[in-house]
Amino acid sequence: MSPAEIQSCLSGVLDPEFGHSLGELGMLKSAAIGDGGVPSIEIELPTPAYPNRGRLAELAQAALSAKFPGSPLANVSFSWRVRGKESGGKIGLRVKNVIAVGSGKGGVGKSTTAAILAYGLKNFGARVGLMDADVYGPSIPLLCGAQNAGQPAMVEHQGPDGQVIPRIQPIEKDGLKLLSIGFLIREDQAVVWRGPMLHKLLTQFLAQTDWGDLDYLIIDLPPGTGDVSLTLSQLLGLAGAVVVCTPQKVALIDAVKALSMFDQVKIPVLGIVENMTGDIFGRGGAKDQAGKSNIPFLGEVPIDACIRVLGDDGRIGEVFNEGSPVREPLLKICQNVAMQVAKSLIETPELPTLEIL
Ligand code: ADP
Repeated sequence: MSPAEIQSCLSGVLDPEFGHSLGELGMLKSAAIGDGGVPSIEIELPTPAYPNRGRLAELAQAALSAKFPGSPLANVSFSWRVRGKESGGKIGLRVKNVIAVGSGKGGVGKSTTAAILAYGLKNFGARVGLMDADVYGPSIPLLCGAQNAGQPAMVEHQGPDGQVIPRIQPIEKDGLKLLSIGFLIREDQAVVWRGPMLHKLLTQFLAQTDWGDLDYLIIDLPPGTGDVSLTLSQLLGLAGAVVVCTPQKVALIDAVKALSMFDQVKIPVLGIVENMTGDIFGRGGAKDQAGKSNIPFLGEVPIDACIRVLGDDGRIGEVFNEGSPVREPLLKICQNVAMQVAKSLIETPELPTLEIL
């Protein structure tokens, strides 16, 4: 058995998550024969949140054992490199995947879910930013305990024609890069925006901010309105949107409107998250709706006082601490979102940005 033979044998193995072969997916990073003739292979995953590495290792080992009977069991190791559309190039944004989190109405836990996604993906090892585009009710600074971080610094850069361009430095907190209108206004200050101002602010937040190289940028959208989504859609090709809703019928009506809004502004929907699943609101409504709308269901966030308390205390990231009662379902949702992003790249590798509406 040679490294080339290992490569050719494994390139036909179907990845259980994507349903495509490792060869097609370009996931075989290296193959070698080690001491005692033990084959070793490295598989490169498209996201560190890939859910079941053990199963993939077993499939690879089984394929090699079937092809080379009597050979020692292969060592399988994993590395990862997030793949993405990297569609922000034209505005100078070096982010592999931009994921918007939206809802049909307020109060369903959209901002909480956006923050949970950011912390969860970071916990898997990805480089993550969290941008608060909910200009009417910015809650990301509070959720992340960054409300006293002060104003983001501005650093002057030299533009291509020698002109000086000030760029916003995101606030760094818990290994995340954060930006919110909440850092720029007083907590009790209401914001009255006209469309063009909103457009300008979002453009600055995306095109004139030093986000650096990120695997995922999570954007917390304002509820309902298509204004911000339209601007985003014009600026760059999003990896997609996550729609958050609660299980009751009245909330689902709004979620359906959100789905239609994303459709109109040409932002693909990655799926629906059901938040506040539990006794009071019931369970399963969002899952049924996802089925009816033919979009993926990304999981349930249980209704649990710890989420409210940690959010209010600015410690929302602690939902992922060992022993947290909601850790497992929340990790699962983050994995589902990351995998949905990775799957969409296989299915629709090119998605144009929306030019004019
Ligand atoms: P939205 O962004 O949709 O307006 P928020 O994320 O601000 O909603 O959440 C509204 C309130 O509900 C907050 O107090 C938050 O802590 C609480 N909350 C959100 N999700 C849950 C949950 N799963 N369990 C308990 N409380 C929650």
